[in-house]
Amino acid sequence: MVDPATGARLDDGLVLWFPAPHSATGEDVAELHVHGSRAVLAAIIQVLHGLGLRLAEPGEFTRRAFLNGKLDLLQAEAIADLVAAETEAQRRQALRQLDGELGRLYRGWSDRLTRVLAHLEAAIDFPDENLPPETEDRILGETAALAAEIQRHLADGHRGERLRDGIMVAIIGPPNAGKSSLLNKIARRDAVITSPVAGTTRDIVEAAVDLQGYPVVLADTAGLRDSDDVVEQEGLRRALRRAEEAEIRLFVFDARCPDHAQGAAAWPGPDTVLVANKIDLIWGENAPATAPWKPPHPNPLPASGEREGPAKREGEGRQSANGSWNGLPEEAIPVSALTGEGIDSLLSALGARVAQTFRIEAPVLTRARHRQALEDAAAALRRAMAALLPELRAEDLRLALRSLGDITGTVDVEDLLDVIFRDFCIGK
Ligand code: GDP
Repeated sequence: MVDPATGARLDDGLVLWFPAPHSATGEDVAELHVHGSRAVLAAIIQVLHGLGLRLAEPGEFTRRAFLNGKLDLLQAEAIADLVAAETEAQRRQALRQLDGELGRLYRGWSDRLTRVLAHLEAAIDFPDENLPPETEDRILGETAALAAEIQRHLADGHRGERLRDGIMVAIIGPPNAGKSSLLNKIARRDAVITSPVAGTTRDIVEAAVDLQGYPVVLADTAGLRDSDDVVEQEGLRRALRRAEEAEIRLFVFDARCPDHAQGAAAWPGPDTVLVANKIDLIWGENAPATAPWKPPHPNPLPASGEREGPAKREGEGRQSANGSWNGLPEEAIPVSALTGEGIDSLLSALGARVAQTFRIEAPVLTRARHRQALEDAAAALRRAMAALLPELRAEDLRLALRSLGDITGTVDVEDLLDVIFRDFCIGK
């Protein structure tokens, strides 16, 4: 490579030429593969600059590819997701969207809606020829079917968006149960400062974790207890809200106080996982009694079936300093945030739970932007069904069509483009 002005050598490299339209952007593209040192890049960029070229804006290549019809908007967004993907599941989801799966679904709906609209407009344009009742029925039937399909697609529990943003797992339970310690142990870093004083985690602390390929955001919340302290009350309010919003809750309690597990009853169902912490204090030889101790339940712990881990491996026949660890609910996963015992079993149980909830078969929504447009489309379809005049019905169907087109970018979306492409990084 030489400077055309001076003939000076710049670098030895490879030049690839992709003539339009057979390039990623659909335009003529030249790629220079050079030695990537700062000095080489600076020299080459300076020469290119002298020729009137400039650096690309963030997302500019993808934007040009979209404008030249190489991608739809959903695929452009999938590229942004692919670049940002941190876990296996995020990568798979972005790739599916890049393959055009969602685009095909939405364009299919648009095509059907266009046909309905064409029938209706024909009827409006030729008012003298009475619309046969079966055509009217077909228009209404197809409109209702589309509205129902969109509604079903919307009722996906936000799984696609969750997978993009991270699946929320809230760690809840009484103060001092070891919630912060557990978060630290799982995140393997000191994201939270633990303290032996009850009620010190007043706000919510989060740690993003890659759990068997799924992006999980673990949130440590304030201990659930009544308090007169205003700040603590606020922490409690936030903890409860987070617990409500989370996909999965880890209810942590001190294994020496099995009756504390009853607090989990506020969140019934399989998405609340019981975690009996501090089993080292029960199984240890000289366990100190640092928390109020309730006598253990007289019944022996029922056999724990398939469960791997300390309960099965080490629990049998083992006596704690306080007698035994009977009385723990059968489904509770015994762990020690201090020694790390049982943490692997907890993580595999949590991973299985996440995988079960987020194993995604059908194409799912991945962004709030798509959700909003689909909700608008469904609302317009419902209005169309209720409309009394054919002209009004046609107008609502056009609005629904426009909302669907907004998602893939098949209608005029110039104003949307800046919003979508500004999140891209340079060079994409
Ligand atoms: P939180 O209020 O539920 O977040 O509880 P912390 O994580 O702050 O823990 C409260 C106290 O219990 C701290 O002194 C921890 O060191 C201690 N602790 C937490 N987990 C364990 C455990 O598994 N075993 C033992 N022995 N102590 C623990």
